[in-house]
Amino acid sequence: MKRFYRKICVSLLVVISVAVTGCGKQTRYTAVDTVMGTIVTQTIYGAEDVTGRIKALLADLETKELSWRVVGSAVANINAAAGSGEITAVPEKLNQDLNTLLGISEKSGGAFDITIAPVVRLWNIDSWAAGVNPAEMESETTEKSAEESQNPSALIPTPDEISKALISTGYEQIEKTEDGILLPAGMSIDLGAAGKGIACDRIVEFLAKNKVDGAVVAVGGSVLVYGEKPDHTPWQVAIVDPLDTAKKLGVLSLAGQWCVSTSGDYERFVEVDGVRYHHILNPATGYPAESGVRSVTIVCKSGILSDALSTACFVLGIEDGMKLAESYGAEALFVDDAGNVFLTDGMKQIFVRKK
Ligand code: AMP
Ligand code: MG
Repeated sequence: MKRFYRKICVSLLVVISVAVTGCGKQTRYTAVDTVMGTIVTQTIYGAEDVTGRIKALLADLETKELSWRVVGSAVANINAAAGSGEITAVPEKLNQDLNTLLGISEKSGGAFDITIAPVVRLWNIDSWAAGVNPAEMESETTEKSAEESQNPSALIPTPDEISKALISTGYEQIEKTEDGILLPAGMSIDLGAAGKGIACDRIVEFLAKNKVDGAVVAVGGSVLVYGEKPDHTPWQVAIVDPLDTAKKLGVLSLAGQWCVSTSGDYERFVEVDGVRYHHILNPATGYPAESGVRSVTIVCKSGILSDALSTACFVLGIEDGMKLAESYGAEALFVDDAGNVFLTDGMKQIFVRKK
């Protein structure tokens, strides 16, 4: 019998509480779907049910632009052209997103790096379903899985494998032109650390065009709040306690449009011999980042920034992470190994600690 960790719900990172009172002409529409390899939870206030259109928008974003697995997506095309000498032209919005992400790589001194893809593949992180420990999953039909189920340490790459994979990483080696990109042979990109935030940005555009009054959309660990609730009270976004994911640490109280992204070591991980190997890698070592941090939450207007910065700040740790977040005008909340909470000044205004 499969022994799944009973944390699937926790994989959302947040619990969204939406208090609904007198709705006037607005109607409240809700939907929960699996899109972009994650759970997408929507609550929309408006005259029309647009949840299906938002789901379709995200599915399109995944298959046409972001997924490295889908042949013909922009990212798959970029990866396929590595070493060809030919610049791959990139759709305009994604091109801007790539520029933003390369900027974060530079400002974070490489703590954030979309060329970490070969190391992510080596660790097989995408097979670590959110909240499920692969070491405890029933063996699959593949040889590797059978080996792993008998010998969980087979889940951990050897130092030699990691050193070899690291050779094919390094954002500085990307050739970026005004509207395109070229990777050296053997390199590939993975937008897993920013894709859900990019999705939030695309949803904001859609909501504005479609005159939606208010919305809360959680795309995995990135949450978008938008507009107003019918009762005009602030949106409430709960923060999971990374030391006990069944508990909430507190709540963010937000008015208007904001993006909230959390990166935590409890989202995807595998435990072998009592050691937790999580999904946020230090590009300098190829191993899960050990920065003394258990989770980082970033709040800012931009989804791509909140998502990428939460990953970058997790790798950098509290001191350098705080500086990076502040340099982007973003607010940050760090939880360290001992459960201590560190907040930027602006975060102190919006975070209400649970008593
Ligand atoms: P997030 O949950 O947003 O922090 O993103 C983590 C995901 O981004 C991982 O599952 C990897 O696919 C990828 N990733 C891991 N470490 C890094 C890193 N240092 N820089 C960029 N992407 C990363
Ligand atoms: Mg991220």
